[in-house]
Amino acid sequence: MITSSEYRKRLSKMRRNVYMNGELVDRDHPRLEGTVNVLAKTYDIVTDPEFKEYEDILTVKSHLTGKKINRFCNVHRSVADLLAKQRMTRLTCQQVTPCIARCMGIDATNAISVVSWEADQAHGTEYHKRFENWLRDFQENDRTGCCAQTDVKGNRPWRPHEQLDPDLYLRVVETKSDGVVIRGAKVHNSVAPCVEWIMVLPTRRLTKEEGAWAISCAVPADDEGVKQIVSAGCYETSKKLGMPGPYGSADSMTIFDNVFVPWERVFLNGEYELGGRLGLLFALYHRHSYTGCKPAMTDVLTGATALMAECNGIEREAHVREKLVELICTSELCYGTGIAAAINAQRSGSGTYIPDILYCNVSRRHAGINIYHEFDILADIAGGMPATLPREGDWLNPATRPLIEKYMMRNPNVSIENIHRAFRWVQAISCSELAGVMQYAGVHGGGSPRMEQIAIMSSYDIERTKNIAKRLAGIPVEEKYTFDRLGVTPGER
Ligand SMILES: Cc1cc2nc3c(=O)[nH]c(=O)nc-3n(C[C@H](O)[C@H](O)[C@H](O)COP(=O)(O)OP(=O)(O)OC[C@H]3O[C@@H](n4cnc5c(N)ncnc54)[C@H](O)[C@@H]3O)c2cc1C
Repeated sequence: MITSSEYRKRLSKMRRNVYMNGELVDRDHPRLEGTVNVLAKTYDIVTDPEFKEYEDILTVKSHLTGKKINRFCNVHRSVADLLAKQRMTRLTCQQVTPCIARCMGIDATNAISVVSWEADQAHGTEYHKRFENWLRDFQENDRTGCCAQTDVKGNRPWRPHEQLDPDLYLRVVETKSDGVVIRGAKVHNSVAPCVEWIMVLPTRRLTKEEGAWAISCAVPADDEGVKQIVSAGCYETSKKLGMPGPYGSADSMTIFDNVFVPWERVFLNGEYELGGRLGLLFALYHRHSYTGCKPAMTDVLTGATALMAECNGIEREAHVREKLVELICTSELCYGTGIAAAINAQRSGSGTYIPDILYCNVSRRHAGINIYHEFDILADIAGGMPATLPREGDWLNPATRPLIEKYMMRNPNVSIENIHRAFRWVQAISCSELAGVMQYAGVHGGGSPRMEQIAIMSSYDIERTKNIAKRLAGIPVEEKYTFDRLGVTPGER
């Protein structure tokens, strides 16, 4: 395992290929600082004495080498691994507010570990061996990865091969003796400018004529031909006031302009029938990660709401308590359903465990439909101050500070210093550029709500619920009654 300073040093050595707002920038650009700080936390926390008791959650033995690795590099080999990943995600997210950023890498590698093995069984290929060789280096060197799944997709109703420009879905444009050349663009690639590897995989089910689009591979994030056009933001916390952070997000439109990928890093190439399976499995693992990070986001919003209520002197009011209960129910239902998803996991042929489709999607959907409501609750209890708070410079200016201190005073049991800090932090997490990104991520991250609906309906046995109703209505039913949960498990369909 490496330290966060080694991680930062590696980033500083990468080729310049990140564009932001009209400039080609280095990876230590101030707008990337928040994302780098988040990823650095995943290294620091492992050796932080305060988190010593969580060592078994944060680290694990590699099934390939037997060595201790950061759990963010792990492939889940048991139900216990899935449960630990979920706990790790909630625990680490609570330290940085919005998102722990390293989950795209772990979710992509787990999906590839399953499908590369299945491709080998069906086609006699050697993807899985290649993948494990690549994974050995990834684990031993404690590397970071992101996932480039979402294609730019052009006209939505058209399939990849029907688009006016076939590059609107990333594809193989040339096959050479030593590898393939890929061209296209992936979009919304979270943390891409702050990691070493981009894991490429298909975004949707593919048809027989779409073998060229069935490509999965690992590409260095600064590779020749890779250009990242990045939108990044930090929420503003005050360094002068010694507040932790800043933390932030960075998302890339990643251009693959005839990028050569050697065979050693190609994990699927042309097996169109497995393209959709790989895409769906990444989304599934990612939705399971959401069962850890979304509760953490809600924990932060619940804490913020309680803190605002205390500052305003209204913490005992009935409507405040009712809203806190709503927030708690959102986080704990998501988390509890994520636990159910892990407990109902299935072992795939590769030995990697796959969480339950139904429970992952139910949890993710519940989180998604509540995200704006959670911010609504916080805004309700906070009042308008997070939107109009005087700037930090006015707080620090001796001419205005006494006035702000006098007129911002509320609950006499909370010092004016803490009232000011609380409102400044709540402004940062709820009324900022980053808050808007987190709200959209809450709706679309891991797939649009429609995709969750499709996953839920295709993994639920509606006929069996109808039979329950028919029996009660006295309508004859042929099927023998069995008491079981109504969702089907991943292996059954
Ligand atoms: C903050 C953030 C971070 C993200 N991080 C990542 C990441 O790290 N890696 C990654 O790969 N992706 C990432 N995503 C992408 C995410 O998975 C997508 O946003 C999501 O799948 C929706 O795709 P889209 O944005 O192209 O929207 P669209 O697919 O265009 O959806 C817009 C609307 O059109 C509908 N629609 C789309 N296609 C059809 C159709 N054929 N027929 C009918 N209706 C249709 C959808 O249901 C939806 O209502 C991220 C997204 C966000 C917002």
